[in-house]
Amino acid sequence: MKATLTVLGSGTSMGVPTIGCDCAVCHSSDPHDRRTRPSVLIEYQGKSILIDSTPDFREQAIREQIHHLDAVLYTHTHADHILGIDDLRPLTFRHKPNKLPLYARQEAADFIRNMFRYIFDADYKFGGLPQVELRVIDGPVELFGARFEPVTVIHGETEIWGFRFGTAAYLTDHSEVPDQSLDQLQGLDILFLDALRYKPHPTHSTVENSLRIVERVKPKRAFFTHICHDLPHEETNATLPANVRLAYDGMKLEFEI
Ligand SMILES: [Zn+2]
Ligand SMILES: [Zn+2]
Ligand SMILES: [Zn+2]
Repeated sequence: MKATLTVLGSGTSMGVPTIGCDCAVCHSSDPHDRRTRPSVLIEYQGKSILIDSTPDFREQAIREQIHHLDAVLYTHTHADHILGIDDLRPLTFRHKPNKLPLYARQEAADFIRNMFRYIFDADYKFGGLPQVELRVIDGPVELFGARFEPVTVIHGETEIWGFRFGTAAYLTDHSEVPDQSLDQLQGLDILFLDALRYKPHPTHSTVENSLRIVERVKPKRAFFTHICHDLPHEETNATLPANVRLAYDGMKLEFEI
């Protein structure tokens, strides 16, 4: 099946520009240097799957004219990946009397249920609540004829998920990708990797480290995401191999799912 991946956000947790920052990238006039929080949308056969709902989801959905969603998959529960749940509301109302399914591993689902208790306890009588339901998964999930396979990565001291779907994979936050997970990434057309900056970080990958992963896994094309204000778009791209590029908000890629 043909599928499209849209980069909704390519930025790190604080976004670029970063509040109160006077650096050149935060003041850049290049639209590629404006990075909202990290998320992608996968579309195939009229279905739309969101990976993570960021605090910028509303802006991203308006920019990309998202009119419906069929499922949301969560990589982990850091604020930059989940805080947009309330803004799913207008898209969830279309599912009534059903609910929009949110897929997450057990501990992530527990965290989301607790963090957004007002949604899941549902004793809030005024105004509309997001019509969502948590579905716990502990392995691959089949969504509308496509298989989404979790890829375990190490994110600082925690173990979280990326996803492989067809010939593409999206690994958004990782300081390390275990060997077993690298084995799951063979034969890819498109690989997204975390590349926060050049300087080492305890919970994120660097440009250098992610280039090593690219060399090892050998996808046809690789894209770096979760980028901070240390990496100017044009300048950084000029230093990367031809099959590796910085992702940017609004980037669209076609692939087979
Ligand atoms: Zn993150
Ligand atoms: Zn800055
Ligand atoms: Zn994170």
